[in-house]
Amino acid sequence: MNGFGTQGTMLTVNGVPLDRLAERVGSTPFFAYDRSLITERVHTLKAALPHDISLGYAIKANPMPAVVQHLAGLVDAFDVASALEMRVALDTTMPPTKVSFAGPGKTEAELRQAVAAGITVELESETEARRVIQAGERLGVRPRVAVRVNPDFAVKGSGMRMGGGPQQFGVDAERVPQLLKELDGLDVLGFHIFAGSQNLKADILCQAQQQTVELALRLAGHAPEPVRYLNIGGGFGIPYHEKDSPLDLDPIAANLETLMSERVRPNLPDATVQVELGRYLVGEAGVYVTRVVDRKESRGKVFVVVDGGMHHQLAASGNFGQVIRRNYPLAIGNRMEPGVETATVVGCLCTPLDLLGDNVSLPAAEIGDLVVLFQAGAYGLTASPTAFLSHPAPAEVLV
Ligand SMILES: *Cc1c(COP(=O)(O)O)cnc(C)c1O
Repeated sequence: MNGFGTQGTMLTVNGVPLDRLAERVGSTPFFAYDRSLITERVHTLKAALPHDISLGYAIKANPMPAVVQHLAGLVDAFDVASALEMRVALDTTMPPTKVSFAGPGKTEAELRQAVAAGITVELESETEARRVIQAGERLGVRPRVAVRVNPDFAVKGSGMRMGGGPQQFGVDAERVPQLLKELDGLDVLGFHIFAGSQNLKADILCQAQQQTVELALRLAGHAPEPVRYLNIGGGFGIPYHEKDSPLDLDPIAANLETLMSERVRPNLPDATVQVELGRYLVGEAGVYVTRVVDRKESRGKVFVVVDGGMHHQLAASGNFGQVIRRNYPLAIGNRMEPGVETATVVGCLCTPLDLLGDNVSLPAAEIGDLVVLFQAGAYGLTASPTAFLSHPAPAEVLV
């Protein structure tokens, strides 16, 4: 279920054999991101989606500067969620007008930085709106903003719900018309509506996109100026587990084309519609590579102990918001062969939570082998508790 190649029984990352790559990096564990897989993913998506849809990358999925630089040449926009992510985005060739800043709790200092940079601030509350107006007055500029709307519908089947019902994200849809009257001094570009994350069901995503567009059309009537920006979120999921099927893009692309031609282009002719994705662009392009430091048997059960763990790749241990722990795909990268035994792969942390693969069918792993965890390109290193147990930080490479 992964796009990585092999040479003989050796896994390759963008054509580089894993053992050579490990020598090149010089130490394990490490994260490796395959640039050709990222490029391929963006090209596939752009070929499928309507030509006038803008594709944004949510940097929090993987903020490694080299990855962000690579994506700057591929996607149309970046979404950042902190001042440091903003700096990484602005270091690339992406124009500031194509960078947006979302997320609750933006401080006055962060908002001043964003306004000074000329990026688009996604307003998450009435307080934030007042702060941005003040920042604009202080700097003598007209800040670019969009209103992040907490929709009046919820999306089922999302790994993480980020809209509908009471939320810390955005302004409740029913309060948006009033807020729009209070935005003097701001350049109100439009709306950002993001309902949820990690969805693998095309029909549910299509329904969410339709409801999002209808909500935006209703709100557009209250906007001080024609809508020029409509960020309809994303939520495209990737398969993490054996039983997950990859998202079927075709119905989503067809649905978007219908929405664009029947609803958006006639009613909001000035609007650029943006789809904003994180994990879908980078998640499957990354591996977390660890080395076997011990192999032991305990009362009939084989344990393969590696030099990495949940402190670098929390999600694979099942502790990053998952309700039920299921194994992430993993392999012995230098023995890409059929399994001959059932082994449990654990990390090097002194806690039973550090479980990377529970009863996995594997080739006989030996000390020194390279255990590879797939689907590690998004919400990996930066979403993990790296200080827990005080081990050194892993390297990250873009290959
Ligand atoms: C996190 C986030 C995303 C990206 O979510 P993925 O599941 O990685 O695609 C997109 N938009 C916003 C506003 C986010 O906060």
